[in-house]
Amino acid sequence: MKFDPPTTRELIRTIAATVIDSADELTELDRAIGDADHGANLERGFKAVLAKIDGISAQPIDAALREVGKTLILSVGGASGPLYGKLFATIGQHLTEPEDLTKAHVVRACEQAIGVIKTLGRSDVGHKTMLDVHVPALDQLRAANGAGSLRQVRERANEAAVETIPMIAQRGRASFLCERSQGHMDPGARSSQLIVSAICDFLETRL
Ligand code: ADP
Ligand code: MG
Repeated sequence: MKFDPPTTRELIRTIAATVIDSADELTELDRAIGDADHGANLERGFKAVLAKIDGISAQPIDAALREVGKTLILSVGGASGPLYGKLFATIGQHLTEPEDLTKAHVVRACEQAIGVIKTLGRSDVGHKTMLDVHVPALDQLRAANGAGSLRQVRERANEAAVETIPMIAQRGRASFLCERSQGHMDPGARSSQLIVSAICDFLETRL
């Protein structure tokens, strides 16, 4: 797939709008097992991205994603800022042949980015974090083939976010609650699911 500046702009605007529209819900999830700021944190970050959207989307998709990541790192507070920032930046850094992206390129770049989050957060699958959505969504993307692939990735991300509800948090603020973190969806898993869904919806209309 080719990303000209209008396509890059539309993709980033779609992600930003999805997060901003869901800010209250994300903050409420974080109120239950954190400090009630996840929505506000991401809203601040993606508003900062939107403020620079012209400059960002004028660049090739790899450089644009690196810039999104840098902006999130600088503007989002909390644990999620550096983690989400590094996620976007690392995907941008590892997208080879950005002028004509294939699934294999995207999978490779996402693998690198997930590796960086694991190292930075000292976290892994099962710890009730954003990784509990990113890892299964990427596994599904790797396995999926042909028509319906994006729908399958979206569905897997949705299920994976729900699967964080019974988990006991082992990383982030929610881990301070131990067993009391059970029974609530992880806010970062929910924001990750929303972003994955928004990207799948966007790509479905263009592939
Ligand atoms: P903070 O916890 O600093 O208030 P946010 O509320 O913005 O930051 O983000 C919380 C989310 O960040 C959690 O729901 C979780 O998904 C994610 N998170 C926190 N710590 C880690 C970690 N070590 N590894 C991966 N994700 C993490
Ligand atoms: Mg928080």
